[in-house]
Amino acid sequence: MRIALWGFGAMGRGIATALIQSDLIKLVGVIDRDPSLSGRDVGEILGIGPYGIRVSDSPEIIRKVNPDLVIIATSSFVREVLPQVEFAVKACSNVITIAEEMVFPFYTYPDESSYLDDLAKRYGVTILGTGVNPGFVLDTLIIALTGVCLKVERIVARRINDLSPFGKTVMESQGVGKTLSEFEKGLRDGKVVGHIGFHQSIGMISRALGWRITRVEEERRPIVSKVYRETPVVKIEPGLVAGCEHLVKAYMGDKCVIEFYHPQQVYPHLEGIETGDYIEIYGDPDIKLAIRPEIPGGKATVAIAVNMIPIVLRAESGLKCMADLPVPRSMLSCWR
Ligand code: NAD
Repeated sequence: MRIALWGFGAMGRGIATALIQSDLIKLVGVIDRDPSLSGRDVGEILGIGPYGIRVSDSPEIIRKVNPDLVIIATSSFVREVLPQVEFAVKACSNVITIAEEMVFPFYTYPDESSYLDDLAKRYGVTILGTGVNPGFVLDTLIIALTGVCLKVERIVARRINDLSPFGKTVMESQGVGKTLSEFEKGLRDGKVVGHIGFHQSIGMISRALGWRITRVEEERRPIVSKVYRETPVVKIEPGLVAGCEHLVKAYMGDKCVIEFYHPQQVYPHLEGIETGDYIEIYGDPDIKLAIRPEIPGGKATVAIAVNMIPIVLRAESGLKCMADLPVPRSMLSCWR
C-alpha cells in the first residue's frame, strides 16, 4: 500500500512514523506548505535518519507518485480541506482525513458532502473522516455500545483530556496561551471555537439511532492556568488560558437526549486533574463505561488514521463515515 501524507505537523509526523515502521505500507510522498520543512528529508525531520523522500510544498507530487491513499492532516474545516480532498480524488486516490468537520459532514455541509460523494463515486475511490474525537470516543464507540441496548433514552458523556500532543492548529482553535480578553475576543470573531466535532458526533449518533435532533445548545468557558505550562508549540504563564471547557446539549423537542462535557487543556495533571473518558447510556439496560486515563488523543489519532487504511481501500466508493464501515481494529498489530 502506497500512502502519501498531506500535512506534516504534530499528527502528520506521528502518522509518518507509524507508516515507516510498518512493513506493508510505504510512505511515498509528503506535502506541507511550511517553508521550514520544504525540501528536507522526511526521516531527518523525524530524527530517524534519511528516508529518501523530501517534503514537497506542492500537491503535484500526488500525481507523480500515484498513491493508493492520501492521508490529510492539515486543518479541521471542510472549507479548507475540500480542495485537498478534491485534488487527491481527481488523482484517483482514496482519502482519509482527520479534519474534524469531515468526520460527519452530511448535516453541516450537505452540498459539499453530496459533491464529494459524487466525485468519489465517479473516480471509484472512498473518502473517510476519522480521528480520536470526533471519529471515535464520542461517536463510534458510543454507537457500538448502543448495539447491546434494547432501548436508548439518553446519552451523557465526558472526555477530560490533555491537549499537549497537538500542534499549533489545535492550540489556536482552543485559545491556548491567550489572555482572558483575547480568548473572549477569539470566541466572538470565531477564531477560538473550543472543540470542533460536537455537531459531527451528534450527527453520526442521531443518524445511527434514527433520532431527529431539533435543537443544540453550546457553552464554552476558558480554563485559566494557575501554574506555568509548556509544550513544544505553546508557553502558558499563570493567569493565561490553558484550554477550553466546552459543553453541548442536543434535544429532541423538550427532551435533552445527548449531553457532552469536554474540558480540554494542556497538561491537566499539573493542577491535579486526572484525564478520562466516561460514557453513560440510559435505556434498557443502562450502560456505564469509564476509561481512565483518557484514550490518549495524539497516539489514538495516529493509530485510527493508519488502522483505517485497509478498511477504506476495501470499502465501496463514496464519502463515508466511521459508522458506515466495519468495526475499526488494530491493523498495525495484526500486520506485525
Ligand atoms: P499542526 O498545526 O501541528 O499541523 C498542521 C500541518 O499542516 C502544518 O505543518 C501546516 O504547515 C500544514 N498545512 C496546513 N495547511 C496546509 C496546506 N494547505 N497545504 C500544505 N500543508 C498545510 O496540527 P496537528 O496537531 O497535526 O493537527 C492537524 C489537524 O488535525 C488539525 O486541524 C487538528 O484539529 C486535526 N485533528 C483532528 C483530530 C480528530 O480527532 N479528528 C485529532 C487531532 C488533530
